[in-house]
Amino acid sequence: MTRVYLGLGSNLGNKRKNLEDALSFIKERIGTVVSLSSFYETAPWGFESQNSFLNAAIGVDTFLSPVELLHATQEIERLLGRRHKSVRKVYHDRPIDIDILLFGNKVLHTEELTIPHPEMAGRRFVMEPLAEIAPDVMHPVYGKTIRELLSSVEN
Ligand code: ADP
Ligand code: MG
Repeated sequence: MTRVYLGLGSNLGNKRKNLEDALSFIKERIGTVVSLSSFYETAPWGFESQNSFLNAAIGVDTFLSPVELLHATQEIERLLGRRHKSVRKVYHDRPIDIDILLFGNKVLHTEELTIPHPEMAGRRFVMEPLAEIAPDVMHPVYGKTIRELLSSVEN
C-alpha cells in the first residue's frame, strides 16, 4: 500500500460539488482517503478565464500502481464530464482536474506520467493545500519538505 497525494481543481459548474463527487469516486475506486485540505479559491493560472478555481489536496492510501492510479483518475475526470485534455500547456476550463502530486517516495518519468508532478513546487495553488495536510512530507527529488517548498514559491 502506498500513501499518495492528489491535487484536485475545478473551475466549471458547481465547483464544490465537483470536488465532493471526485472524492466519492476516489474512495470507491482508488483507496482510503486519509487527509483532506480545505477548499481554496484561486485565480486561473496559465490561461485566461473568467472562472476562478476551487483547489484542494488529499492524501490517499492505495494499492494501485502509478499507471493504474493515473488511469483511475483520468476515468473519474471523464465521469465528471471533463472533455478537453491539456496539450502542450494549452489549458481549458474544466469541471475537474486530478493531478498525481506524490506517490510515496517514488520518482518516475515516462511519456505518460511524471512523479512527483513536475510543476507542483512552482504553484501556490497546489502547495498551499498540500502543506495544510502534509507539511513534513519530503519531496523525493528536491529533498525538502512541502513546508519548505511552499515558503519559496514565488507566485
Ligand atoms: P493539466 O493537469 O496540466 O491541466 P491534464 O490534466 O490534461 O493537464 O494532463 C495532461 C497529461 O499530463 C495527462 O494526459 C497525463 O498523461 C500527464 N501527466 C504526467 N504526469 C502526470 C501526473 N503526475 N499527474 C497527472 N497527469 C500527469
Ligand atoms: Mg491534470
